[in-house]
Amino acid sequence: MLSQVVELIENKDNFAITTHIKPDGDGIGSSLGLCWLLRSLGKNAEVVMNGGIPQAYSGLPGVDQIQNVSSVNGKYDAVFVIECSDLARPGIEGLEDQFTVNIDHHATCEHFGTINWIDSTASAVGEMIYNLCKAIGGRITPEIAECVYLALVADTGSFRYSNTSDRTLKVASELVKAGAKPAKVGEAVYNSYPWSRIELMRQVLDTVKRDGTGRIAILRQTLAMGEEAGSVDGDNNGFVNIPLAAKDIVAVIYMREIGKDQFRASLRSRGNINVAKVAEQFGGGGHKNAAGLSINGPWDEAEATLITAVSAAIDAAAS
Ligand code: 5GP
Ligand code: MN
Repeated sequence: MLSQVVELIENKDNFAITTHIKPDGDGIGSSLGLCWLLRSLGKNAEVVMNGGIPQAYSGLPGVDQIQNVSSVNGKYDAVFVIECSDLARPGIEGLEDQFTVNIDHHATCEHFGTINWIDSTASAVGEMIYNLCKAIGGRITPEIAECVYLALVADTGSFRYSNTSDRTLKVASELVKAGAKPAKVGEAVYNSYPWSRIELMRQVLDTVKRDGTGRIAILRQTLAMGEEAGSVDGDNNGFVNIPLAAKDIVAVIYMREIGKDQFRASLRSRGNINVAKVAEQFGGGGHKNAAGLSINGPWDEAEATLITAVSAAIDAAAS
């Protein structure tokens, strides 16, 4: 919990921070925000990650100092693991031998850390990093503000999703006061993709269809589409939300081929329809309105299975 995190930071000096592979805005923004916070408190801190960082985040302060690693050794007093459902998510070896601090806002998260601070009422881990800064008596520097603001924007869909609370907006306001620039972050997150995103979008949207009831939209992304578009990680960010622009669509299933008969599925829903529960049935997880899972199959079979499960969640929410 928070008080344990504060005590740890006050008493130790050498920290690493990591997040899941293919980091989203909350993962990267919260990691960098925490790194800047620790440094502002006079601590040694570095962000370590396995793999590349999407272009959208390349302008964040500190991105150029992120270390690309596949394992960690024992030189840290603690490793902060940001926004990870389990200790395998960062894709970094040696974490199990470290003193780990699990910081997450997913209720479905495993309590894998030596310390676990899970706050499922936070819109983003970024909101938790802000709370940590306040709890420890730190100052919100312009660097912290920019990184944490991006985390909030990413996880709330620019303050539009149901996880946006009055607290989220208050934190955002404080971050802007401390130096975050909403227009700059907005441009970076939404308008800085390579053209391959548009090529991929064209192909993915070409697959869109609805289930028999017209309530669920289904999208497919094949491996071949990614190759043809020359796409890079993150090019498909947010595609899953596009069908929700149609009023009658209450849930979306986005299936992305990752190998022969192997898929990652992203689920989205409106209101009370709980797709985290659906994802959990398949070993995945997430939030009520945004969740993900892995599934095998012949494609049509896997899709039919997911449509059945999502339909049941829609019916459960209506009853
Ligand atoms: P996305 O569809 O954007 O990949 O993920 C939506 C939400 O579900 C995110 O909060 C993400 O962390 C969570 N999520 C996605 N895939 C998985 C998974 O396989 N396991 C768990 N536990 N959570 C997931
Ligand atoms: Mn998040």
